[in-house]
Amino acid sequence: MALDRPGTAPRNDLSAFWMPFTANRQFKQAPRMFVSADGMYYKTSEGREVLDGTAGLWCCNAGHNRPRIVEAIRQQAGELDYAPAFQMGHPKAFELASRLRDMAPEPFEHVFFTNSGSESVETALKIALAYHRARGDAGRTRLIGRERGYHGVNFGGISVGGIVNNRKAFGTLLTGVDHLPHTHLPEDHAFTRGQPDAGAYLADDLERIVALHGAETIAAVIVEPMAGSTGVLMPPKGYLEKLREITTKHGILLIFDEVITGFGRLGSSFAAAHFNVMPDLITCAKGLTNGVVPMGAVLATAQIHDAFMTGPEHMIELFHGYTYSGNPLASAAGIATLDTYAEEGLFERAAELAPYWEEGLHSLRDCPHVIDIRNMGLIGAVELEPIAGAPTKRAFQAFLDGYEKGILVRTTGDIIAMSPPLIIEKSHIDQLFGTLREVLCALD
Ligand code: PMP
Repeated sequence: MALDRPGTAPRNDLSAFWMPFTANRQFKQAPRMFVSADGMYYKTSEGREVLDGTAGLWCCNAGHNRPRIVEAIRQQAGELDYAPAFQMGHPKAFELASRLRDMAPEPFEHVFFTNSGSESVETALKIALAYHRARGDAGRTRLIGRERGYHGVNFGGISVGGIVNNRKAFGTLLTGVDHLPHTHLPEDHAFTRGQPDAGAYLADDLERIVALHGAETIAAVIVEPMAGSTGVLMPPKGYLEKLREITTKHGILLIFDEVITGFGRLGSSFAAAHFNVMPDLITCAKGLTNGVVPMGAVLATAQIHDAFMTGPEHMIELFHGYTYSGNPLASAAGIATLDTYAEEGLFERAAELAPYWEEGLHSLRDCPHVIDIRNMGLIGAVELEPIAGAPTKRAFQAFLDGYEKGILVRTTGDIIAMSPPLIIEKSHIDQLFGTLREVLCALD
């Protein structure tokens, strides 16, 4: 029953849940609900099927309702529901860490578990700061992020992140943070397939920041190797290599935020392997458990990890961790997920399907309002001309219309982003882009 109070939102079945990153008032007037999911499709509360063009939120890389993952969680819940994360262990967390190590590029030997991408970012930043201190280099406290970078929503992440809306309401963030310029050059890059040729020089800005503050004050640079949430921005050829070169030269750690690019999205295990550029720390989450149980991780090289292993053996080496780090259900889901990826060859599948995906996506170039299309692996974006005075409105309308017509896409600003489960078939790709074409053609 609605119990309206003057000046407040109406109280009803939907009012209690304050939804994240959602226009709550608008949503609650016309809610969109998923009630089940299987394979490539969600089912809505009205019984309609919606093709998952986004792998949930870039996370269900093996598709939905995968029996192996469901069964692993069920079994684990009945066997060991929870074990203290501190000073106690359980086998599944160790097993998953070893499996991740074996899957990751060679220098990554150690795994620190978190519960989300945001927590992975905070953890990586703290490890970077503590690493320098552990080596007697305590003056390295500055952090460098990038404009249009998304590193989750906690204070470290929004400080190094470069999305204005995610920062401006929250006052003073971390101090001692600089931002590199973002890597998107619309005039040079529009409609490039894969990595654009121009723009490696944008990494040189790091030298300017180093000259400004002194290398001995800088702890780490964090970037998404391919920026996802801010509109699928590709690294120009040579850009990541240059960042690695400059950071190494100055003793600055390089962190790749692979919360989206990890687990096959680009057709390789991680973007570090895909681009063959090795950072010092990798953050991941999402696809680690196929999005089914919240979990994230930070992968560290032996050099980073071993710098902490020097004090007395009874002493805790890193004063950091979460009640749910390496949670048994999450670990069981993670192992079953990695098994599924390996057995079904899903990363290779993403690489194989990438050319078909690219063709389909770029066929939308002649649709009205399209000003750019970008892609790599099984990720893609269509950028629309904003409506004057009403930015984001046109793309959001495309999202709403797509949902009505049976496809799920995601929008960020005036960019429509797509990142389907890696089990996608060519017929689903045709459905996704065919429906999106209808939607785009009907937009004002
Ligand atoms: N980093 C990146 C690169 C991300 O894309 C995201 C989520 N989209 C995050 C961090 C934050 O992850 P979470 O929402 O799990 O905290």
